[in-house]
Amino acid sequence: MTIPFIDLKSQYQALKPQIQERINRVLEHGQYIMGPEVGELEERLADYVGVKHCIAVSSGTDSLLIAMMALGIGPGDEVITTPFTFIATGEMIALLGATPVFVDIDTRTYNIDPEKIEFAITPKTRAIMPASLYGQCSDMDAINAIADRHRLPVIEDGAQSFGATYKGRKSCGLSTIGSTSFFPSKPLGGYGDGGALFTNDDDLAKTMREIRVHGQDRRYHHSRIGINGRLDTLQAAILLVKMDRLEWEVVQRRAIGERYSHYIELRGSNIKTPFIEEYNTSVFAQYTIEIDYREDVIAKLKTNGIPVAVHYPVPLHMQQAFKHPYKGRLSIVNAEHAASRVMSLPMHPYMTEDDQDYIVDTLVGP
Ligand SMILES: *Cc1c(COP(=O)(O)O)cnc(C)c1O
Repeated sequence: MTIPFIDLKSQYQALKPQIQERINRVLEHGQYIMGPEVGELEERLADYVGVKHCIAVSSGTDSLLIAMMALGIGPGDEVITTPFTFIATGEMIALLGATPVFVDIDTRTYNIDPEKIEFAITPKTRAIMPASLYGQCSDMDAINAIADRHRLPVIEDGAQSFGATYKGRKSCGLSTIGSTSFFPSKPLGGYGDGGALFTNDDDLAKTMREIRVHGQDRRYHHSRIGINGRLDTLQAAILLVKMDRLEWEVVQRRAIGERYSHYIELRGSNIKTPFIEEYNTSVFAQYTIEIDYREDVIAKLKTNGIPVAVHYPVPLHMQQAFKHPYKGRLSIVNAEHAASRVMSLPMHPYMTEDDQDYIVDTLVGP
């Protein structure tokens, strides 16, 4: 028995005629760059998240870069972020010549601990950038309150949480700028790279749109330095079809995540299942547990045809790439501890109960 870690094929089978129809339309009209599907997708996504502006971009990484460029972040600046995330979150801060200041995580949610943020703020701090790890938002009200006191913008790295809610509001619409990714395995994934920015701020939206196209305000007139950060029309067309199915998939993800936790907890093992705050819903971009003897468990699952992954084995402040720019003011023991113990199980909206039972049985014994 071999189980997929994620299953993009079943989703494609379910949407095949609509996807092919949408792709064909793009091939017929031929506007491969910034075609009408891009604007249509932006409206659809802005509506879904409940914000004024959506700017579709080339990836979740470029999305973070454009957000920080729009805020004018550069050399000498500091950005407060989490050490327990995908590299891109810290990487784009460093790429702009700014310093990532890593603040330790809450051991329950694995997201940045708001109570520790204020100690890390200095006169050089220019922004706070939490990430919504595994599909659950950080405590954004608490983070926004600290940011307001210090007049700082907040960028939510919502690459893993598109479709999740925080106190009834949608992820990516919870702060100054929301950012997400359409990498194929993310909760809303395309068939290639893609991402999007969200904001209610008209000026920031205009600036981010300009940065997306080489800082251009009119054709061949460049008011600022930008990048080539556009989303392909073909990806927008594919994502428009996938949006029709997003809510169903979000419900499935949540049900499958909760079913995992229910059965793992029922066995009374010493496995730590995901903790979801009562005011949050998670989209379970990953279903991640904490476990003793991780390497042995991974080996056992793999032998039984169950793929697993570790998100993430090395926190950012311990990555070779951050050896020099890293500025530590506080200890980051929680992230280091989590990195040594977490493990993600197969997770996708099309998982059958049989497959899930088999995974749980193999994990904790029948
Ligand atoms: C995937 C991811 C990104 C980067 O998105 P890409 O589209 O792959 O560039 C950034 N931040 C987090 C937290 C991610 O999970």
